[in-house]
Amino acid sequence: MAQPVAIVTGASRGVGRAIARRLLMEDWRVAGVARSEEALRDMEKEWPSFRGFVADVRDRARAKAIVEEVEKTWGPVDALIANAGVGHYAPTWELSEDHWDEMLEVNLKGPFLWSQAVLPSMMARKKGHLLFISSVAGTTTFPGGAGYCASKWGLMALADTLRQEVKPYELRVTVVAPGSIQTGFAGSPIKPYSLLPEDVAEACWHALSAPERVIYGTIIMRPKVPGELGGA
Ligand code: NAP
Repeated sequence: MAQPVAIVTGASRGVGRAIARRLLMEDWRVAGVARSEEALRDMEKEWPSFRGFVADVRDRARAKAIVEEVEKTWGPVDALIANAGVGHYAPTWELSEDHWDEMLEVNLKGPFLWSQAVLPSMMARKKGHLLFISSVAGTTTFPGGAGYCASKWGLMALADTLRQEVKPYELRVTVVAPGSIQTGFAGSPIKPYSLLPEDVAEACWHALSAPERVIYGTIIMRPKVPGELGGA
């Protein structure tokens, strides 16, 4: 049987790298997208079934070209994991317009563009899985998080809409919404209690490997904090 094919955006480090690794462990082929060429080339050397594509996820033409190349080389894309993301935190009155735009473009428009790039062939085959890495910040808000939360709430809306739209095409749409992860995302200090990138990768694998009749809609995951009462 042909090896399944995934595209993982933001694969150069952190969660995206862990997802790529998890899929490779299951004998998938993985096309990893990011801007850091060196990291992608190192991953190609380490993992024979991995291919890196240097791209900015905001580039619509590049998304289309990469999907075409992957399909030509490996066959149809079975799963898109739209994971690339950025975070900038500041009180709303201090958040720069550039940072606002970057978060909305990378975290929300990126998944939209990549979905558009993979959907035509998934819809034609009636087979495929779109998986979006959102955040607990897509279900709640916090001071300093206006732009980031807006981008991730928007992503939840995009995913929820898509899940309904693609029903006639028998495609699956999943959102994984994690709390703090030990990646150094957005230059944040690593919290004493946080998820590992591998924990998020495992949740993704759980959704991707579920029987075809099962759709995991939204998976919200948080680190267990000893003694914590409530909270996001
Ligand atoms: P990370 O270690 O900073 O990795 C971010 C990834 O996104 C990198 O591979 C980066 O690659 C890529 N990326 C950023 N901007 C890009 C662009 N314009 N074009 C292409 N790739 C781009 O962060 P992470 O923690 O793994 O985050 C992954 C996802 O998890 C994000 O969507 C984030 O919002 C979400 N998340 C993170 C946390 C957390 O606490 N870490 C919690 C909840 C959700 P290049 O720089 O090489 O382009």
